[in-house]
Amino acid sequence: MSFKETAIYSIVKAKCPRCHEGDFFETSNPYNLKKFDKMHKKCPVCGEDYERETGFYYGAMYVSYGLTVGFGIAVYVVMVALMGFTEMNFIIIFAILQLLLMPVFYRTARLVWINTFVKYKGKN
Ligand SMILES: [Zn+2]
Repeated sequence: MSFKETAIYSIVKAKCPRCHEGDFFETSNPYNLKKFDKMHKKCPVCGEDYERETGFYYGAMYVSYGLTVGFGIAVYVVMVALMGFTEMNFIIIFAILQLLLMPVFYRTARLVWINTFVKYKGKN
């Protein structure tokens, strides 16, 4: 199995979970703040339905929560335990990091969520 066939490829490259060819979001730049959250309705290459059902992406909130907690623990360990920052400095810097990384976490959570339900099948 090559890297291109893994779900990690689809998540990192923001590609269709089924064919790993079509784009998942309308823009590849998460910091295009007018369009970072706009998704294609279907895969432009294989036609996989990205909407699936009403409210499908509510589950991505739990993924986002998990990613945020994991990221928070990692930042805490690096800042407070390894670099000697105070807890208050950690809270301020972590809040700023969360704001700056929000588009990345939003998109990653949706990609992780759909990749748990749609498996790679190649290009037909
Ligand atoms: Zn596709």
